[in-house]
This record gives sequence, structure tokens and C-alpha cells, in this order.
Amino acid sequence: MPYIALNECDVEVTSFQCLDEFKREGTEYQSFRCAFCEVPYIAKAIYNETSVAKAPHFAVARGRSHIGDCNGEVLLVVAPVEGGGIGAKVVKREHEVPEVLVVKPPTRSVVSGPKGGPATPLSEAEIKRRRMNAGKKYGVSRFTSSLLASFIEAKAHLVSAAFAKAKEQGLTGAKEKAFLNSYLEKYPLQLFEQKLNYSTAFWRANYVRAGQAPRIFQATNGNVMISAQNLTINSAFLQRSTAKSPSTVEATATALETNGKKITVGATAVVLFDLSGVDRAELPRAHKSLLKKLAETQAADRTVSWSAYGVMTVRDGLNCIELLSLDHLHIKT
Ligand SMILES: [Zn+2]
Repeated sequence: MPYIALNECDVEVTSFQCLDEFKREGTEYQSFRCAFCEVPYIAKAIYNETSVAKAPHFAVARGRSHIGDCNGEVLLVVAPVEGGGIGAKVVKREHEVPEVLVVKPPTRSVVSGPKGGPATPLSEAEIKRRRMNAGKKYGVSRFTSSLLASFIEAKAHLVSAAFAKAKEQGLTGAKEKAFLNSYLEKYPLQLFEQKLNYSTAFWRANYVRAGQAPRIFQATNGNVMISAQNLTINSAFLQRSTAKSPSTVEATATALETNGKKITVGATAVVLFDLSGVDRAELPRAHKSLLKKLAETQAADRTVSWSAYGVMTVRDGLNCIELLSLDHLHIKT
């Protein structure tokens, strides 16, 4: 599935980066061509398809085809091997969800004027040279995103697919929960260098996890306080009723303790972001809309559920997650 293309300005782009730029900035390129043989492409699952289960990619425009042996994919110098890392074999899964949280790519400088393809057809030798160069540069690239929102949407999609399957199989209670976990574990999720999956990458923010590696922390019942200087979201721990059956909170706590990890239940979780020095007029579209939504929530005195990527530190008995970027916060009102 081709994921590398040239845009109308002759700039090499990947479908993953195009999706990120569209979500963050609203940037929409007008046309794409194969990065190797320059046949016209159309964008798939980037601008006009909302399915979170489909990886963004390119496809040959109707009635056209690649030149010679070109199929829009890179040529690998080293054969793909099992087991992860560069050159790892890409495992085909039922849902094509984002797999790697990466640093935001640098903002592109737009080259002037549309160019739109070579004057004469490219030679097969030139096409091969380009594909081999791209193979060295990208390897077997996996679906990446620099926006936490992409992973939260994908997880919600996987959870609902898993619940539907569990229902089909008549699973309930502990069996349903075990099925959900094993389903999520099949989907890798790499947080920068950390190789995790859609189950292990997420932690509840109300448990103390100080001094541990960064994760995607989550909590509900968040009270938003936003000023010119700071953004703070406070989530007090809510004790669930255990009168009838053990709550999911207690079940998780027991499981974690048996794994020998020391945890404390019941701390208030806090997301912090320093807004001083942030020029709000210069913020990308996605950040402006996030801050607007947070301000509206505060004004209406409503609460939010949130997900935040970062390291937890404990200060004055509070579980604090300090954000390095607004790309790493997702809220649900
Ligand atoms: Zn091609």
C-alpha cells in the first residue's frame, strides 16, 4: 500500500504526515503523484474518509497505472525479517490503527508553484533508483502519528470491535474483560522508543506511578481551570460502589498488586500545561480548538474525561502529568 508520494509542489510526503498536518493545521494538498514513477495518485483515508480503522495511503488514479515494475512501494535492500525494528515484517491485522507516537515533523516550507510531473517519462532505471533510496530512508514504515488524539480514537474503535466480538461469543464478566485485554494486546503501540501495545500503553492516572516510564494516563471527572498562564485539569478519585460486585477499579488494583508493583489508589490526578509564552494566535488549528473546548467546559462548569501522554510525578500528594505539547492531550466532554 503506497504511503510515499510527491505533492503538487514536488515535495516528498508520507500519507501519515499528511493526515497529521490535516488534523493539526488543516493543510490539504491538492494533488499527489507516485514518488517513483510519478503516475497521478489520489489520497485515501486522509482528507475525506473518517474511518479510524483505515491507514492513510495513496492509490493510483482511475484509468492509470504505474510504469514498468513500479508498484508505489519502496525496494528494500535487506529482506524483511520477523521480530520488530527496521526491516521488520509488517503483520496484517484486522484494523489498521496507528502504531507509533512520533515527534511532530517539521513544518514544511511550501515550494512555489505547482509542477505536476516530469516532461518526459522516467526510465525504469531511474524509477528503481528512487525506490531503493526510499527503501533505505523509510524501511518498512509503520502507521505513525504525532497526535495523541489519533491513538485515543483508534483505541475506542478497537474496544468497541472487541466488545462486539465478545457479545457474539456470549462472553460476560471476567471472561469478557480477559477477551478485551487479549484483543488490545494484539495491536502494537510504540510511544516514541517504548514498545508497548493498545493494552499496556494506557494507565489510570489516579494510581501512583511516579518515577516510571511515560505512558498515556487517563482519568474522568476532570475539572478544568484555564488562565493566561496555565492550563490545569484536576480529577479527584471517585470511589465506586462495591456493594454488589467488585468494581473494575478494585479488580485492577488487585491484579497490579499481585504483579508485585506498589500502587496507591485514590490520589487526585492533575494535568498541567504552561501557557505563559504561548502565542495563541500562532497556535495550530487543533490546539486552538482544544483550548476553546476547555474554556467552554470551564465556563459551563462541566467535567471532562482526558488522556495525557507524559511522565507522572507526585507533588503534595497529587499525581501530576506535565504536558510537553498540546499534541499530547485529548479530552472528551
Ligand atoms: Zn509508481
